[in-house]
Order: sequence, then structure tokens, then C-alpha cells
Amino acid sequence: MDTQVKKDIRALTRDQLRTFFKDQGDHAYRGDQVYEWLWQKSAHSFEAMTNLSKATREMLADNFVINHIKVDKMQRSNDGTIKNAIRLHDDLVVESVLIPTSSRTTACVSSQVGCSLDCRFCATAKLKRMRNLNPDEIYDQVVAIDNESRLYFDRPLSNIVFMGMGEPLMNYNNVLKAIDKITSPEGLGMSPKRITVSTSGVPKMIRKLADEEVKFKLAVSLHSAIDSIRTSIMPFNSTFPLADLREALEYWYAKTKSRITYEYVVWEGINDRQEDADALVAFCKFAPSKVNLIEYNPIEDGDDFRQASNAAIDLYVHTLERNGITVTVRRSRGKDIDAACGQLANKS
Ligand code: SAH
Repeated sequence: MDTQVKKDIRALTRDQLRTFFKDQGDHAYRGDQVYEWLWQKSAHSFEAMTNLSKATREMLADNFVINHIKVDKMQRSNDGTIKNAIRLHDDLVVESVLIPTSSRTTACVSSQVGCSLDCRFCATAKLKRMRNLNPDEIYDQVVAIDNESRLYFDRPLSNIVFMGMGEPLMNYNNVLKAIDKITSPEGLGMSPKRITVSTSGVPKMIRKLADEEVKFKLAVSLHSAIDSIRTSIMPFNSTFPLADLREALEYWYAKTKSRITYEYVVWEGINDRQEDADALVAFCKFAPSKVNLIEYNPIEDGDDFRQASNAAIDLYVHTLERNGITVTVRRSRGKDIDAACGQLANKS
């Protein structure tokens, strides 16, 4: 059979695999064995499934492929950050990043090739080609980083952030399926509390997350709490204006009681005034919130954007703290290898 028509076996659920074996006149539990190889043991070939007979392995290879990702290129930053260029089965490339600190190793993973949104300060938004990643392609990035964490830092991966390429809530089903695998004991068994999904703010999908009572954390890339400014830097804001986003977040908090994190870059002449900081407070004070003031990472063609002064950052910190909102000032990691927020664009 030609490879083109073979199905990706990792698109099948455990039950579908069990049924497949039953239909072949074999035992359903073979499906469990294969499932374990594919997910717990991350097998890259049917050959490797040594508790199956040779005939069974050949039969699987005749019917299916295992579309594993391949780490094409690994770059290490002088601050320890590792960036992986991941080649997908159709030769498209995404990036994922390992960020080590003294107490944690965080994986920053991609959810789409390119991005469906158009934030003007983000390098990923400039990429044309776009498709959603499949659940296994997201899961594999996490496995690859977990392996690197064990190899280079002698400890397993501790946290995951969906802050790589793409808008996770525009690939909702696949991201949730991947998180199911990551948190399931049959996959990596990680606690959902150590996973953060970061979104530019798609109100309908935030409501859906709330309805499903997901246990992972939510971060929102806000960057401005004033509609006209937000629309000028994140044009999709005209479709999903702040009032809708705010209502969806209120709904999220009412259902989950989970604190919301806001990501926010302060740019000179764009959002560095007292009234910008006041608008941020007014936007997020309805629920326990945390604001991460992240550093701007310059991108090509990003001349309109310049990191604001320390005085502007101090203004934000004081305003937020005075209003009882937790705030942290984040320094970028991995800038020298274009691995920092907003710099992922397959440049090598
Ligand atoms: N689409 C999702 C996740 C990917 S972006 C989201 O928007 O949240 C991850 C974070 O990097 C977001 O907060 C985004 O606003 C920020 N970001 C994008 N470009 C950046 C840049 N050039 N410098 C600093 N942060 C940037």
C-alpha cells in the first residue's frame, strides 16, 4: 500500500484501536498494548513494539504510519534556553522552546503552523502558511522537551505554556486533546495546574473552556485595555472587542474560580500613559488577577514598536500594586537565538 493512503495511527483513540484488533480477529487488548507504545513509550516505529508478534507489527505497518515529529535543529542560548525547530510529516516547521530556571523547566509549545491572528508586534503573525497542529504533534513537542530537560538539566519538565506559535483557542479541539494526553496517566501524567494556555482572547472559546471546567490555567495577552489602541496593535480586536472579552472572562472566573493572568507589553508612545495603566486596572479588577509585564522582543519590520522606559514600567507596577493586583516584571529569555516571545518565525 502506498504511504500516502495509510492512516496516522495516532489519530485513533484507545477504543478505536481495540475495535481495530477485534475486527482483525485478534484480541481487543492488543489495542491497549499498541496504545501504550504510541503514547506512554513514544515509539517511533512498529518494529519497536516488541511484545507484538512480527506478523502483527507487519500488519500494522501495512495499514498505518506513525507521523512523528522530528527535531530538525536545536539551538542553545547563552542563558540555557533551548529552541527546537520541529519538522512535521508534511515538511512544515514549527518551533518550541525549553526555558530553564533554578527551580523549573518550562516548555513553550506551538499550537499552529503560523498563526490565524495578526498582532502587529509578533513575528509569527507575519508567516503566511498556516495549518492547525494535530494533537500528537503538540504532544510530541512536549515529549521532546521533557527528554531534553532530563538530558541537559537532570530533571523532568515541570511546566507547559501554550505561548509558542499560533493561537491555541483557534485550534481548540486539538489543543484540548493534546492536554488530555499530557495530563492522562497513560500519557505524561502531568498536573493540569502546571499548564497555561495563553490566548489573545477569543470570547466564545473562553466560555467553552469555562463550560468544560478545564483545570489548566488561562493567560490573556491583553497589551491594552482601551479598544482603539488594542485594535491598532491587534486588529482582530475589532471582531472580539474588550467588552466581549471581559464578559467571557467574568464567565470563566465565575465557573472556575481560577485566577487570570494577563500578559502585557508596554511600548513607548502606544500604551505607556497613566490612563493606560488605569484602564488595565479597571479591566481586570473584577477577579483575582496577575499581570506579567513582559519585555518587548524586537522583530523585523517592527519599527513602530519600542520597549517603554523603566519609568513607564514603574508607573504600571505602582498603579497595579496600589489596586491590589499582583504584578511581575518579566525579563526575556533566549533572545540571542530568537526564542523569546513573539520571535518564533522559523528563522535560523
Ligand atoms: N496566541 C497566543 C499565544 C502565542 S504569543 C497569545 O496571543 O497569547 C505568546 C505571547 O507573546 C503573547 O502574550 C504575545 O502577545 C507575546 N508577544 C508576541 N510578540 C511579542 C514580541 N515581539 N515581544 C514580546 N512579546 C510578544
